[in-house]
Order: sequence, then structure tokens, then C-alpha cells
Amino acid sequence: MIKKASKIQKQDEHTIIALDHVSKSYSTGAPALNDVSIKIKRGEFVFIVGDSGSGKSTLIKLLLKELNPTEGEVFVDGENVEKLKRRKVPKFRRRIGVVFQDFRLLKDRNVFDNVAFAQRIIQVPTREIKKNVPSVLSKVGLAAKYKAKPRQLSGGEQQRVAIARALVNNPKILLADEPTGNLDPNNSWEIMKLLEDINQDGTTVLVVTHNREIVNAMEKRVITMKKGVVISDEEKGGYIDED
Ligand code: ADP
Ligand code: MG
Repeated sequence: MIKKASKIQKQDEHTIIALDHVSKSYSTGAPALNDVSIKIKRGEFVFIVGDSGSGKSTLIKLLLKELNPTEGEVFVDGENVEKLKRRKVPKFRRRIGVVFQDFRLLKDRNVFDNVAFAQRIIQVPTREIKKNVPSVLSKVGLAAKYKAKPRQLSGGEQQRVAIARALVNNPKILLADEPTGNLDPNNSWEIMKLLEDINQDGTTVLVVTHNREIVNAMEKRVITMKKGVVISDEEKGGYIDED
């Protein structure tokens, strides 16, 4: 079978994420995404901004294959996500680290175990876990708190644990859906700086955020969504004021 040229291009070595005319409708209401095309290069840092309900989280779910598109195609790290066999999905998801606004830590486990959990489910040998977890905890600045329970940590520290857990399996992509939504301005800045450091180490980073001050200061690529449509996509962009 001859592949269409456009498809080959979407899976070229420089492209890590591509949405090709993607729409997603839920059973009710207007489409959450409506003919969205986006291409992200390996190693990029991208902000995704837009009002609540504009389709940002839906986009993240499509990248993780938690949802399939109603129309169009989603490519992640060379895979046409919709065509992935069910049995290949867990391994595919390991290439992507995810962080959420509400941290999603195991409350009754300490910091070490929260991070180790991500390695245990993929059966990394204990010997390796004992090296990898302290290493990633020191990367996020929490090496000394490995015994603490989540409730003993500040919000910013809890988010660092979540980031460590997202990173411990060495994903190629880190997706963060409003990672600073529950944090004060100082902690928000620290988390964004950490995400920038992670990006500088080579991980492609996508950050959904409402934090206009940080978006404006960081001068990264900014994709703005509105009602399921990309209304702007700019290198070194800023937060578009609509109000
Ligand atoms: P954002 O993350 O930008 O706030 P979402 O992607 O969560 O936006 O939602 C986009 C639109 O899709 C909204 O109108 C929302 O109500 C709708 N939506 C999201 N999830 C579902 C769902 N599971 N079922 C029905 N509608 C949904
Ligand atoms: Mg959302």
C-alpha cells in the first residue's frame, strides 16, 4: 500500500505529536474539538491556553488514547494512536508522563512509594527502583523528603512528587494539565521552572495553563484554543486577552 505523503510527514523524525484535522464530539453538546491541526516537534515546550471548556483536556486525553477522535488522526511518537492495538496501549502510555492540577498522589503512601509505584507497575527490579527514585527525587528537589506523606507536604511539593512520578520511567513527552491550578504564585513559578528544566534535558513538554503572567514571561510557543478551535499558535507567544 502506498502511504499518502502527508502521513509520512506527520511521522517524520522531528515531529513527536501531530493532530491532523481532529474533531471530538461527546454524546451531548457542541464538538469539544473541531478540526484541530497541530504539529509539535521533538524537544519543544508548548503552552496550551484557553477558556474553560475550550477543549484542552480533551486534547490531552486524545494524546493518551483515553479517547479516540471522532474525525481526523492523532500521531504520537510515530504511532497513529487510534490504530494502536489494545495490548500495546500500556506500553505506549509509558512514553508519556502526565501531571494534573490535583496531584493525584496516593495519600497513605510516602513520597518514595508514590514515585516507586510507577516503576513497580511495569516490574522494574527493586534494585533499579532504589536507584531511580532517589535520582528523580533529587531532580525535583525532594530527595530529603522521601519518607513524608503527601499531607505533610505543601502543594508545590506535592506537585513535585507528581512530576517525579511522571518522569521516573523516562517518558519522551510530559503532559501537564493545569499543573499550577492549585498553587500560589511562588510555587507556580517553581513548578514552571522545573518543567522548563525537564524540557531542557530533552523531554517534550506540553503545559495546559491559565496562568497568564507565567505564559507571558516565559516566551514559549503558545497555542490558544477557543470553543474547540485553535485560534492562535505563536512562537514566543503571549496570553491572548479576550475579556
Ligand atoms: P477544557 O479542558 O479546556 O476546560 P474540556 O476538554 O474539558 O475543556 O471540555 C471541552 C468541552 O467538552 C466542554 O464543553 C465540556 O463540557 C465537554 N466535555 C468534556 N468532557 C466531556 C464528557 N465526558 N462528556 C460530555 N461532554 C464533555
Ligand atoms: Mg481542562
